[in-house]
Amino acid sequence: MTDFDSFQSASDEIVRFGKYLWDKNLTVGSSGNMSVKLGGGSGIAITATETSLGFLTSKDIVHMDLQGRVIQGGKPSSENTLHRAVYQKILEGGAVIHVHSVFANAFFLKHGVLRPRILESRHVLGDVPVVDQKTLTVEDIGPVVDALAGHKVIHLRNHGSLARGKDLMECFMLLQALEYAAQVELLAQS
Ligand SMILES: [Zn+2]
Repeated sequence: MTDFDSFQSASDEIVRFGKYLWDKNLTVGSSGNMSVKLGGGSGIAITATETSLGFLTSKDIVHMDLQGRVIQGGKPSSENTLHRAVYQKILEGGAVIHVHSVFANAFFLKHGVLRPRILESRHVLGDVPVVDQKTLTVEDIGPVVDALAGHKVIHLRNHGSLARGKDLMECFMLLQALEYAAQVELLAQS
C-alpha cells in the first residue's frame, strides 16, 4: 500500500466512525477529534480543526507527520500535539478518539476514578482514571499521555474522554462502554 492509499483508507475510516460517534450521541457540535497512525512511519491522518465529526468529508482530514508538519490538507485539530505525543510515546497505539460526551463528563464532574460495578463494564474498562484540566485545549500533555500509557481510555475533567487502541473500532467501543458505564453509575446514585 502506498502512502497515498494508506492515507485514503485511514481518511475513509475516520469519516465512517465520525458518523457512528455522532449517531451514538458521543459527540456534539464541532467538539472532539480523531486520528489514525499510518503505516511505514508516514505520519497520521487527523480531523481538521472546527469540523463536526458527524458531517466529515475527505476534505476535513489532514495528513501530517509526527513532528507536526502538514503534508496534505488544511489546519489540523488543535489537539494534534496530544495525538502525536500519544503515538510517539505509546508505540502500540494505532488510533486515537477524543469526544465530549454527556454522561462521562457528568460523572467525572462529581467523582474521581470510575470503578464500574456492572461486571461487563468492569471487564472491558477496568478503573478509568481522570486527569484534571484547566484549559480549553490540552496544554499539559505529559500527565495525559502517562495516564493513557496505563489505560486505553481515560477522562479529562471539565473536558471529555480520550481512547487509544489498535484501530478506530477499538477506540469507539471503549468510548461507548465508558459512556454506558458512566450513565449506569449516575442513574444508580440518583
Ligand atoms: Zn476536547
